[in-house]
Amino acid sequence: MTSGEAPKGFGMAIDFGAPAPTADPAASTTSAPAAPTEARLLILGSGPAGLTAAIYAARAGLAPIVIGGYAPGGQLMLTSEVENFPGFPDGIDGPELMAKMRAQAERFGTVMVDQDVDRVDLSAEPHRVWSAGREFHAEAIIVATGASALWLGLESETRLRGRGVSACATCDGFFFKGQEVVVVGGGDTALEEALFLTRFATKVHLVHRRDTFRASKIMISRVQAHPSIQLHMNREVIEVLGEKSTEAVMLRDTTPGATRAPERLPAGGLFVAIGHKPNTALLGGALPVDAAGYLQLDSDTTASQIDGVFIAGDVHDHRYRQAVTAAGDGCRAALDAERWLAERDAAKS
Ligand code: NAP
Repeated sequence: MTSGEAPKGFGMAIDFGAPAPTADPAASTTSAPAAPTEARLLILGSGPAGLTAAIYAARAGLAPIVIGGYAPGGQLMLTSEVENFPGFPDGIDGPELMAKMRAQAERFGTVMVDQDVDRVDLSAEPHRVWSAGREFHAEAIIVATGASALWLGLESETRLRGRGVSACATCDGFFFKGQEVVVVGGGDTALEEALFLTRFATKVHLVHRRDTFRASKIMISRVQAHPSIQLHMNREVIEVLGEKSTEAVMLRDTTPGATRAPERLPAGGLFVAIGHKPNTALLGGALPVDAAGYLQLDSDTTASQIDGVFIAGDVHDHRYRQAVTAAGDGCRAALDAERWLAERDAAKS
C-alpha cells in the first residue's frame, strides 16, 4: 500500500441522493440513508476533471464528496469510442472510461452523490451547496461542472447522436475515414474541425447559416484554400436523414426571400460545431466569467478569486477541451486544494 492509499474495504461509495425530481416532487420517496453532507472538500461535477480531482483528494485522505449530477459522467457519456485517452491502446467506450474513473475514485473513499447542484453560497465559510433539498458544507470546493455542446435542436439530430452525429471531431473524426461529412458552424471551432476532418473524410461540407464567417481570418483563408472542403454559405441543416446511421442532411437556403426547395446532401457524418455553453448557471454569478461565459482563474494555479474555491476542466477551458486535459486539470485542482487545506491547518495550530 503506497502512502495516502486507503486500506482495502475503506471505500465509501454512496449513491444515496434523492431520486431525480418527478413531476410531483412530494410524491418522490427514498428510504435510503442520507449521504454525509459535511466534507473538507466538495467537488462539483463528475466528468474527467471532477473524478480525477476526487481520486487525488481521496488518496490524500480528504474523503471528498462529489456532487455529480443526475446524469453523471460528463460529455464522455455521449461518446462511443475513445481512442486518444492514454492507457487504452484498443480504445474504450466513453461510458466505460467514466465508470472506471468513478470506481477508482470510490475505491479510495470518495462519496458520490448523483444529484444536480441547485445553488451555492461561496460568500462565507464554510462554503455551502444546495442539492435536491439538502445543504452541503465544505471548507474547499472544486468547480468542475464542464461545458455542454450546443446542438441544433432537431429531433433527428438527437436520434442519430453517436450514430454519425457528433459534437467533437477530435473524438470521432477517425471513424469517418473514406466518407463525406458535414460540419455546421461559422466560428473557429467549426473551421478547425472541418480542417481536422480532411485527414479522414474524402470531402468535408462546411455549412454556415450566414454569408460571412465569425472565425479568425487565418482559419477562413485555410478553409477557403483547402481542396477537400466545400463551403455551403447561407444554408442551415433542417433534418438529418438515416434510420440506424446518418446518411444525409437536408439543407435549407437562409438567404432572405429565397424560395428554392430544401436540398439533400449525402454524408455519413454530421459534426455540430456551433459552440459550447459552460455550465456555470448553478454558481449564480459567484465567480467571474470571461466574454464567452467561461470561469476565469485567478493565477497560474487552479485558484479562483474566492479563497478555497478551485476550478478545473472545460468550465474554464475552451481551448483544449479534451478528456485528458480535463483530467490533468482535476489533478492540479486537487493538489491546490490539498495544499490550501494543509496551510490552513498549519496556520490554526
Ligand atoms: P462561436 O465563435 O460562438 O461560433 C459559433 C458559430 O456557430 C457561429 O458561426 C454561429 O453562427 C453558429 N451557430 C450558432 N448557433 C447556431 C445554430 N443554431 N444553427 C447554425 N449555426 C449556429 O463558437 P466557437 O467556434 O466554438 O468558438 C468559441 C470561442 O473559442 C471563440 O472565441 C473562438 O475564437 C475560440 N476558439 C479558438 C480556437 C483557437 O484559437 N484555436 C479554436 C476554437 C475556438 P453566427 O456566426 O451566424 O452567429
